[in-house]
Amino acid sequence: MKKGRLIKGIGGFYYVDVEGEIYECKARGIFRQKKITPLVGDYVEISITDEQKKVGVVEKIMERSTELIRPTVSNVNQAVIVFAVIQPEPNIMLLDRFLVLAESQELEIVICFNKVDLATTEAYMPIADRYRAVGYKVLLTSAKNEVSITDLRKVLLDKTSVFAGPSGVGKSTLLNKIHPNLQLKTGEISAKTARGKHTTRHAELIPIEKHSWVVDTPGFSALNIDFIEEEALALYFPEFDEYMEECKFSSCQHVDEPSCGIKNALQQNKIAKERYHSYLQFLQEIRSNRRF
Ligand code: GDP
Repeated sequence: MKKGRLIKGIGGFYYVDVEGEIYECKARGIFRQKKITPLVGDYVEISITDEQKKVGVVEKIMERSTELIRPTVSNVNQAVIVFAVIQPEPNIMLLDRFLVLAESQELEIVICFNKVDLATTEAYMPIADRYRAVGYKVLLTSAKNEVSITDLRKVLLDKTSVFAGPSGVGKSTLLNKIHPNLQLKTGEISAKTARGKHTTRHAELIPIEKHSWVVDTPGFSALNIDFIEEEALALYFPEFDEYMEECKFSSCQHVDEPSCGIKNALQQNKIAKERYHSYLQFLQEIRSNRRF
C-alpha cells in the first residue's frame, strides 16, 4: 500500500500523487456500498496493480479535515484571497465577504493585493495596513515583479491553497507565474464562456512542490453567507474578538445594544469603521434571509 493525494478525477478514474509519481486508480466497490465518493483533495491509500504502468486501486480514504463546496475539494487549509489594487478597483465589502467565507471554513488566510505596478504606494497602503491591523497576512504582488511572486510561492509551502477573488484581479496570471506549466486561461472572456455554457468544471490539485498544492479553480464561487448563524458572524471578524468580552450582554450582536465592547472600540478607532459597516451589512443579510 502507498499513501498519496487524490489530485484529479475523470470518468471514474482517480489520479493519485504519491511523492511526485502519478498513479491512475479505480476506486474499490466498497466505497459505492458505503456511499462514499473519493474527492479531489483526499489523502488516500492505494494498492498498486501495475507499477510500470502506474496503475492502482484506491483502498482507503483518510478522514477529511475540511470539505469545500463549489469547487468540491477536501483538505484545503489555506485561502489566498486576491484583489487588485486597481483595475478593477477593490470592492472592500466583497473582500470582507470572501474573508468571512474563508473564516467560516476555518482556513488560514492570506490576502494578496495584486497589480501594484499600476498604482502608487500611497494609493494602496492604507487598505493593506487596515487588514494587517486585523492580523491578516497581506502580500503586495505584481505579475511583473518576480520578488513578489517568490513571496507568494513561499506562503504556499506545505499547504493546500485555494485562490479566491473576483474575476479580472489576476488569479490565473499569478498561478501561471507560480507554476509555468499550468497555462490556465487568463482574461475575462474565457471565464465568461465557461459560465455561459454551464460547463461543470471539476477542480484539480496542482502540485507546486512536495506537500504543497493549489486548487486550479477559484474558491467560493457561491458568495452567499446565509448558512452562517447570526451569533457566529462576529467570530469571523477576528479583530472583534478582544472587545467582545466587554459587552454587557453575552447575546450582544453589536448593533444597538447598550454597553457594547465593539461599538466602544469603534468609537476609539480600534476597529475600522469600514469593517464594522461590512459586519452590519452581512448581519442584515443573514437576518432578512432567515425570515423566509
Ligand atoms: P482572473 O480573472 O482573476 O484570473 O484574472 P486574470 O489572471 O485573467 O487577469 C486579468 C487581467 O489582468 C489580464 O489581462 C492580466 O494580464 C492582467 N494582470 C494580472 N496580473 C497583473 C499584474 O500584476 N499587473 C498588471 N499590470 N496586469 C495584471
